[in-house]
Amino acid sequence: MKKIGILGSTGSIGTQTLEVVRNNGDIQVAALAAGSNIGLLERQIREFHPRLAAVMDEERARELAVRVRDTGTEVIGGMDGMLALAALEEMEILVTAVVGMIGIRPTMEAIRAGKDIALANKETLVTAGHLIMPLAKEHGVSILPVDSEHSAVFQCLHGEDPRTFSRILLTASGGPFRGYDRERLADVTLEDTLKHPNWVMGQKITVDSATLVNKGLEVMEACWLFGADLDQIQVVVQPQSVIHSMVEFEDGAVMAQMGTPDMKLPIQYALYYPERRFLPGERLDLFALGSISFEAPDMETFEGLSMAMEAARIGGSMPTVFNAANEWAVRRFLKGEIRFLDIYEAIRSAMDRHHAKEDPALDEILEIEADTDRWLESRC
Ligand code: NDP
Ligand code: MG
Repeated sequence: MKKIGILGSTGSIGTQTLEVVRNNGDIQVAALAAGSNIGLLERQIREFHPRLAAVMDEERARELAVRVRDTGTEVIGGMDGMLALAALEEMEILVTAVVGMIGIRPTMEAIRAGKDIALANKETLVTAGHLIMPLAKEHGVSILPVDSEHSAVFQCLHGEDPRTFSRILLTASGGPFRGYDRERLADVTLEDTLKHPNWVMGQKITVDSATLVNKGLEVMEACWLFGADLDQIQVVVQPQSVIHSMVEFEDGAVMAQMGTPDMKLPIQYALYYPERRFLPGERLDLFALGSISFEAPDMETFEGLSMAMEAARIGGSMPTVFNAANEWAVRRFLKGEIRFLDIYEAIRSAMDRHHAKEDPALDEILEIEADTDRWLESRC
């Protein structure tokens, strides 16, 4: 039995991971963690019997401890809970499915404890990839991609000499506002933004998909995961979300991983790698689909992607500022406090005031995040 832990078990990736566990029946869930949704977490504890549950919100953690005292599950609150979960002895793989760079410390803790990481939490790699990738190498742990594009690249590279890839063709749906100009974007609502054409996901990544910030984060994620240079990554808009990404090799061959949009495939692939297992669900029907189309991304209108490329090119602490400003702005956008284009403005102004520091240490990354938050808050 494989033993896993899930950081963010109550979210979109977390619940789909538990579906994969349920379908297969040979994975043991050693630990679960959530932010504050103890109602769902309690149901998960009663179904999967983890040894440990962590809840970021301390008050909710105390409440949950009372509610599940008839089970054998220990509950720990706050960051201490996340770190205890990360280092839990019997756990072999940690699925990082929390949203945001809050995942950095537990991810690093898990690597130090020798756990393989099934990584969905891209914000962590974008801001601390220079710490995480060498740490993983040092401790001999694998970072297995869960993000669909990166899983596709990983699948295309399987059995190949990774030194022979020349480019990664990272596909993007283009989001709900593909084809819009800036004028139209100025008027979009939160409700419009939350309607992703092909995927049902958590709210933050759904907004990021509409701004193309998500694709920008994914470009940086791909650089870290596959040791690619920025210039080796081309973003290709493929509106049907059927090609999950492609790899071009030295000889010109292009390998693509295709399928219906279903996150359970990359989740299951990461959990059982290198084994491929049956996965119930719809299969790709090429005749019903008819055609697959491609476009270049509109980087001028969708500044989320162009600013991410700029942050990646500058490097050092700039991706942290890009990400922290976006997390701040998306939080406010989700509360209805700012408009769609204000997200771009917040990122632009935070990046403009920052002088990037090379190779920031963990405490510097966290301080830069806090400073970006404080500064954006002070302007309101
Ligand atoms: P959700 O918002 O659906 O879930 C987030 C999870 O993180 C929940 O379990 C939530 O707990 C928990 N959480 C939120 N804030 C905190 C906090 N401060 N401390 C601890 N836990 C917290 O997100 P998704 O599942 O959509 O995304 C998770 C990650 O995976 C993101 O980084 C995203 O970019 C990435 N990803 C997601 C995809 C998808 O299809 N959803 C696809 C590819 C990547 P609670 O429920 O209690 O709030
Ligand atoms: Mg993705």
